[in-house]
Amino acid sequence: TRQPDRSEQQSFFTPDPVQSGRPQRKASAAFVMLVRNKDVHGARRTIRQIEDRFNHAYQYPYVFLNDEEFTLDFKEMMRPMAKAEMKFERIPKEHWSYPEWISEERATQARIKMSMDKVLYGGSESYRHMCRYQSGFLVHHEAMREYDYFWRIEPDIQYSCDIDVDPFLYMQDNNKKYGFVISLYEYPNTIPSLWNATKDFMALHPHLLASDNALDLISNDGGVSYNYCHFWSNFEIVDARWMRGEAYQRFFEHLDRAGGFFYERWGDAPVHSIAAALLLPVHELHFFKEIGYFHAPYQNCPAEPELQSKCHCDPAHNINREYSSCTAKFLALANERGMVYPEEVEEY
Ligand code: GDP
Ligand code: MN
Repeated sequence: TRQPDRSEQQSFFTPDPVQSGRPQRKASAAFVMLVRNKDVHGARRTIRQIEDRFNHAYQYPYVFLNDEEFTLDFKEMMRPMAKAEMKFERIPKEHWSYPEWISEERATQARIKMSMDKVLYGGSESYRHMCRYQSGFLVHHEAMREYDYFWRIEPDIQYSCDIDVDPFLYMQDNNKKYGFVISLYEYPNTIPSLWNATKDFMALHPHLLASDNALDLISNDGGVSYNYCHFWSNFEIVDARWMRGEAYQRFFEHLDRAGGFFYERWGDAPVHSIAAALLLPVHELHFFKEIGYFHAPYQNCPAEPELQSKCHCDPAHNINREYSSCTAKFLALANERGMVYPEEVEEY
């Protein structure tokens, strides 16, 4: 445990010198978007904003992933949006289909039941493949292998602040493995048995848990139950090496065997979040509070005047300062472990 010193704390706000528009250093990293051909316009809007707010100076590559072949039209519409390299990749069939231990009959019945119960995306088959894919297979895609970090993006999101410091380098230089901008509490009816499966995993593989982990972020009773706190994974910056590593992959395989991606509707957000909270020490998690970000219906918008001048969002609306977010809980825990200042916690 250590108290950060001021200069270190504020280093995120001090831009790396960008010489003649080119950064001196870059991480091995890429943006990644899972997207369908029909979402081309929303995808263009996202890329345009990332370019304007950040990537024009850095030119990190974009990886577009799809369970179907990208159309020529999609590629031709996307390419003019950035100078950076773009990869248009198809997801291998075996990563977007039922594993042999899943009963498709039972999966169908579960969808019918969850649809009648009005569970969000409860009746959708493709949404389940999508969540399972993002939970376990994305980092293994051939096109992703070469990167140490990925930054997940989606169609129709908004980046509302200039990003003057490279978040990938921030992760690398500060040994962060999971970065988020919004946290929320999950709908319990999408994950009835996820915590039981997690507890089985913890009992079977105690050596894979981080000793200084963030269990207290996601459980209010020392692990007996899940409090549904999760990082909203439509934005996430992740150390892909961690996610490809043994602890994470064992966790994913354990959950995949349990069947809840199909028999319930487990989201990649709670799966990534539980993994990050249990398998990483708290100090390897990071809240990017400076990054203005909107994904319907929530946003993160920094209120500090020096940051506001670089943003186009209304700081009165910031989900992280509401009761429906667990970011305050994260900051309190981070403060306990000497990662942030008490006054930063009080803002939330
Ligand atoms: P929500 O944010 O939970 O409402 O879910 P989204 O509809 O935004 O889906 C999450 C991400 O997966 C987005 O990047 C979508 O573009 C992508 N996605 C969702 N379903 C599919 C699908 O069936 N195929 C492909 N290729 N992408 C999908
Ligand atoms: Mn979305």
